[in-house]
Amino acid sequence: MTVQENISLKQYTTFGCNEISRYFTSIPSQDALVEAISWCKEKQIPYFILGTGSNVLFTKPFEGLIIKMEVVGIKKTNETATNVFLSVGAGENWHHFVSYCVQKGWGGIENLSLIPGTVGASPIQNIGAYGVEVEESIESVTALDTQTNQWITLSNSQCAFGYRNSLFKKEKNRYLITTVQFILKKQHQLRTDYGSIKELLHEKNIKNPSLADLSNAIVQIRTSKLPNPAKLGNAGSFFKNPSVSKTNFEKLKTDFPELIAYPISDDTYKLAAGWLIENCGWKGVRKGNVGCYDKQSLVIVNYGQATGKEIYDFSEEIIQSVLTKFNVVLEREVTIL
Ligand SMILES: Cc1cc2nc3c(=O)[nH]c(=O)nc-3n(C[C@H](O)[C@H](O)[C@H](O)COP(=O)(O)OP(=O)(O)OC[C@H]3O[C@@H](n4cnc5c(N)ncnc54)[C@H](O)[C@@H]3O)c2cc1C
Repeated sequence: MTVQENISLKQYTTFGCNEISRYFTSIPSQDALVEAISWCKEKQIPYFILGTGSNVLFTKPFEGLIIKMEVVGIKKTNETATNVFLSVGAGENWHHFVSYCVQKGWGGIENLSLIPGTVGASPIQNIGAYGVEVEESIESVTALDTQTNQWITLSNSQCAFGYRNSLFKKEKNRYLITTVQFILKKQHQLRTDYGSIKELLHEKNIKNPSLADLSNAIVQIRTSKLPNPAKLGNAGSFFKNPSVSKTNFEKLKTDFPELIAYPISDDTYKLAAGWLIENCGWKGVRKGNVGCYDKQSLVIVNYGQATGKEIYDFSEEIIQSVLTKFNVVLEREVTIL
């Protein structure tokens, strides 16, 4: 195992902040992961598993070992008349994997095109976009349970998926994922009902889109709406859409008739966090090195030299102003260290 010391995490996270990790290693195999964990246990230091760092914010130096996930490989394990079963290394690039499936004609994850990150991180917050969540295509997840030191395979239901949530988010750092097993569909019903997708396909005069048409449309939409982390540091949506009771929703709707929200159960509504933030006047606001993106107020951007702490403090100001104006608590989607 090669361990580097005092490594800047600037190039390893999409926020591009110059925080330092005391130790850093890459792991290309399950054995290497076991070795890295026993090294940390021996030294009694913390560890943190990192994919491409597109959903994390380091706000201070990390006094432990960063374990960069590099287990790769896409293997077909089974095929039936209707489905294909794949076992995929946690270090595979997510969009590369989506493109591979689209090209093969296997459906289920095409709406998740161009989400940055690794396959192994996809179950952590149950990545989602354009009406689809990855849980719909995950059969099981293989991980090292660091509490018992055993390898386990958790079924889809054991993963306890929810909106930007899962067992892995609830029990932070316990399960270190090395492989995700997917079920994809051969005859797939495309999900094109999202407004901007419909509009773009119509504009392109595509009446019966293929998987590739849909994936390309989503890539085009995302590229036009979201900042490219290679040019402007960010971690996508910084906040989750908050849930409120029906009573709270009705009160808010009376006070703010333009409020954007949708029911998720008989007595719960989800509010559009972007609308709340925008209506507190944050869209496009810049304070020093940090700002609220001018095309999408859910995204906080690093104009180049921001520290993680500056970004965190900016997000706290947003949370406080939403609380003051709407009495709604915003929760961060990004993992904070
Ligand atoms: C421009 C942009 C757009 C985005 N759009 C979306 C979107 O539409 N939908 C969406 O859901 N997300 C979106 N995201 C967030 C992000 O892409 C996803 O959360 C992605 O899954 C993170 O992958 P990663 O490899 O970068 O994970 P990291 O940021 O490296 O890690 C995220 C968390 O997962 C844990 N983790 C990572 N790998 C493993 C593993 N193998 N085992 C155990 N834990 C692990 C880490 O410890 C950390 O807690 C966006 C981000 C950006 C920058």
